[in-house]
Amino acid sequence: MRRIYLDYAATTPTHPEVVEAMLPYFTDAFGNPSSVYSYGQEAKGAIEEARTKVADLIGAWGEEIVFTSGGTEADNFAIKGIACANEPKGNHIITSTIEHHAVLETCKFLETRGFNVTYLPVDEYGLVDPDDVKRAITDKTILISVMHANNEVGTIEPITEIGRIAQEKEIYFHTDAVQTVGHIPVDVNELGVDLLSMSAHKLYGPKGVGALYVRKGTRLASFMHGGEQEKRRRASTENVPGIVGFGKAAELARQEMSQEAEHITRLRDWLIKGLLERIDHVRLNGHPQKRLPGNVNLSVEYVEGESMVLNLDLAGICASTGSACSSSSLEPSHVLLAMGLPHEQAHGSLRLTLGRWTTEEEIEKVLDVLPGIVARLRAMSPLLKIRKKSVTRRANGD
Ligand code: PLP
Repeated sequence: MRRIYLDYAATTPTHPEVVEAMLPYFTDAFGNPSSVYSYGQEAKGAIEEARTKVADLIGAWGEEIVFTSGGTEADNFAIKGIACANEPKGNHIITSTIEHHAVLETCKFLETRGFNVTYLPVDEYGLVDPDDVKRAITDKTILISVMHANNEVGTIEPITEIGRIAQEKEIYFHTDAVQTVGHIPVDVNELGVDLLSMSAHKLYGPKGVGALYVRKGTRLASFMHGGEQEKRRRASTENVPGIVGFGKAAELARQEMSQEAEHITRLRDWLIKGLLERIDHVRLNGHPQKRLPGNVNLSVEYVEGESMVLNLDLAGICASTGSACSSSSLEPSHVLLAMGLPHEQAHGSLRLTLGRWTTEEEIEKVLDVLPGIVARLRAMSPLLKIRKKSVTRRANGD
C-alpha cells in the first residue's frame, strides 16, 4: 500500500537535493571545522556558506545565525540565555498559553529559579491580543516570547504588532518560527524580533539541526560551554552535514516557497470544505484566514482523535491529533483547551498537514475514507448514544 503522508508539521521528508548536498560531508569532506588544515577549512567554508543561506531566508546577517541541534535547543537558548544575561535588570517573562512545550517547559523551569512568567490567553482562534502583551509588561519584564505560528492549529500570530510594542518598551522579543520559516515569508526586521528559532526538519532539511537568530547587540548568555565554536556562543563540534543540509533547504525554500504555498493552500481549502460538507458535528480549529498554508485541524464530535489516527493509519494515511511531541500522551491538547474548547471537543481533534509532495489524488482519498471512519467510530461511541438518548427524551417531553 502506498502511504499518504499528511503530517508535514511533525516533520518533512528530506529533499533529495538536500541529501545530495549533505553526502560529501560524511565522506570526502569529513574534516573538523576547527582544524587548521584544508580538510577542516573546507568544512568550515561549507558551514559559513550555509549560514549565509539561512540568514538570507529570514532577512538577517550571517553572523546573527547560531546553529543548534534543533528548534527545542533554539527556544531553550533564547529564553534561558536572555534570562541569565539580563537577570540584574528584571525577572519577568511574558509568553502565551499555546506555545510549544520547548518554550512552556523552559519557562516553567525558570519559574523554579525565581523568574515570574505571565502566560497570555488566546481567543477562540488561538490569537494573542497585542493589547494583552502591552498590559502584561512591568518594569521587571526582560523578555516577550510569542510563537510566529502555532504547530497544532496553524494560527499565525500578530508578531509585527507585538514587535512594535517590544521595541517601544525596549524589551527583548523572541519568536518560535519553527513552523513558518520556509513556508511563509519571514523577515526579522519586518517582524521586529531580536531572537527567532528555526528547525531544518520542518522545511525539507535534516533532523537534529536548527538555528537561533540573534540580533546584533542582544545580551544573551551562552547555553553550551566548552570550545570556541559558533563564536563561543554554542560549544561542540558542528554537525557539518546537517548544517550544509539546512543551508540547502533554506536556499530551495527561497526559490520555491511562494509557488509551493499557493499549491498547498488550494489543496488545504479543498480538503477543509470537503470534510465540513461530508461530516456533521465538525469544527475547524484555528483561524480561517490567518493560518499556515498546509494546516487543517478539526474537532470531530463524539469521536476520539486517537481512534481516527489509528484508523487512518490502517487505511495508509499518516495524520496526528496535534503536536508530535505529545501524540503519545492521551491528555487533550493544551492549545485547544486554551482556545476555550470543551474537553470532549479537544479530545476529538485531528490534524492533517499538507506539504510539497501532497497531491490531489491524496486529498481525494482522504475525502473518500475519513467520513466512513468517523461514521463507524460514532456507531460505537458511547458519547453519541448518551446524546441521542437525551435528545429523544427532550423530544418526548421526558
Ligand atoms: N517549536 C515548534 C513550534 C515546533 O513545532 C517544534 C517541533 O515540532 C519545535 C519547536 C521543536 O523543534 P525540534 O523538533 O527541532 O526540536
